Amino acid sequence: MFSIINPFDSTFLSEHQYITDSEVENTLKISKKSFDIWGFTPVNERLNFIKNLVFALTKKQHLLAKQCSLEMGKPITQALAEVKKCQILCEYYLNHAEKFLEKRQIEANGSESYVTYEPLGVILGVMPWNFPYWQVFRFAIPTIIAGNTVVVKHASNIAGCAILIEELFREAGFPDGIYTNLLISGSQVKAVIENPIVKAVSLTGSEKAGASVASIAANKIKKAVLELGGSNGLIVCEDADIDKTVEIAVNARFQNAGQSCIAAKRFFVHSSLFDAFIEKFTKAVSKLKAGNPLNEDTYVGPLARTDLAEDVEKQVNKSVEMGAKIVLGGKRTEAFYEPTILVNVTTDMPVFNEEVFGPAVPVLSFNTFEEAVELSNKSDFGLGVSVFTADVEALKEKINLFQEGAVFINAMVKSDPALPFGGVKRSGYGRELAEDGIKEFVNVKTVYIG
Ligand code: NDP
Repeated sequence: MFSIINPFDSTFLSEHQYITDSEVENTLKISKKSFDIWGFTPVNERLNFIKNLVFALTKKQHLLAKQCSLEMGKPITQALAEVKKCQILCEYYLNHAEKFLEKRQIEANGSESYVTYEPLGVILGVMPWNFPYWQVFRFAIPTIIAGNTVVVKHASNIAGCAILIEELFREAGFPDGIYTNLLISGSQVKAVIENPIVKAVSLTGSEKAGASVASIAANKIKKAVLELGGSNGLIVCEDADIDKTVEIAVNARFQNAGQSCIAAKRFFVHSSLFDAFIEKFTKAVSKLKAGNPLNEDTYVGPLARTDLAEDVEKQVNKSVEMGAKIVLGGKRTEAFYEPTILVNVTTDMPVFNEEVFGPAVPVLSFNTFEEAVELSNKSDFGLGVSVFTADVEALKEKINLFQEGAVFINAMVKSDPALPFGGVKRSGYGRELAEDGIKEFVNVKTVYIG
């Protein structure tokens, strides 16, 4: 039995029980049975269910958003935006999936050759709490449209959101076993991956969980897609529009209380702009309204759990002991951590060389573009980088210098259904979204006619 506690006011929300191993086995068998039909159902028929899902999402958007605010503290307007983004994702694949999954003719030596994209079977998703709906939809929708069935082990602290997602699929009329919420603990995941019914796994979460899941999968020669942490740089070049950059930088770091893998977590500002940037940025951040996530004017809520806020506090305090200076914030009350800005930061400090999964940001200065690239690349992670400059054409020639899965110019790094999403280095491997995402869990079958 475990309880879910509202991180805003520490009130009790609900109690849940993980299912037993024999219940897990039964669930997997149902999912496999469904796959035996779903996997041979034409794509256009599968898409009819997705249309119903969009309808169910729209109908329940406020309920879904509120559950997310209660369980993990996301401000209600941001929670609602997350639900809407799930609708947009469904609509994107409604428009493009048939084309992506069409057989592809290839010229070779025989009289004809082509590839078909066939589903693999039952796929496990291990999902995190920071975007309780978006992360699941991003994995499940293309995977299901491709003909697989999915079982999802969602994060324990948002078990209510996880139940609501399963209900949406039921309401949309999906046959049993196409989407199943697996209410299990992290320690039960190993047996699920090892079960012969499960063909592959996708995990979004910490490096620790990712490394464990990927090694179990590798041992059984099963594919894994990993979307792990990030410590994105945000580079402000000498010629950047400083006001516009500050506005975007605030969102890039403090949206969702900084709990996003693609948040800008290390800022690099050209020395000629440094003082002005700090002044304007500090002013903008100090205006952010913190408070009850259920209030529409709240921008910064608590972190999803008190232990996560304590982690951020430790990283900031250790960096201050090492010589960093706090310009704004720096205090924790229970799960709340104040939006925090640090200067005098060196690359050996935790706020620089670890992922800070909360509302704190180090701002460093640089003199040459090469120096900025070096600082940005000086990270174990490689999810993305934002660069602000007036000379976009010159920057386009230098994209290959960045060791990242994405480079965003004059914009914050964000996920978009039409663009592949994923990282390099310790940020993981594989891609989600777009055409690449729908092809992660398919058998690319070659047909050759002599
Ligand atoms: P975890 O990685 O522990 O949780 C993510 C998911 O993995 C949850 O469903 C969790 O289940 C599950 N899980 C945890 N350990 C294992 C395991 N050994 N085997 C299989 N599944 C496992 O994240 P935390 O909640 O502990 O957050 C810690 C840090 O992880 C954050 O501070 C951040 O750095 C990073 N993180 C990154 C995310 C991203 O978007 N890339 C999202 C969330 C966290 P359960 O909840 O039951 O433990």
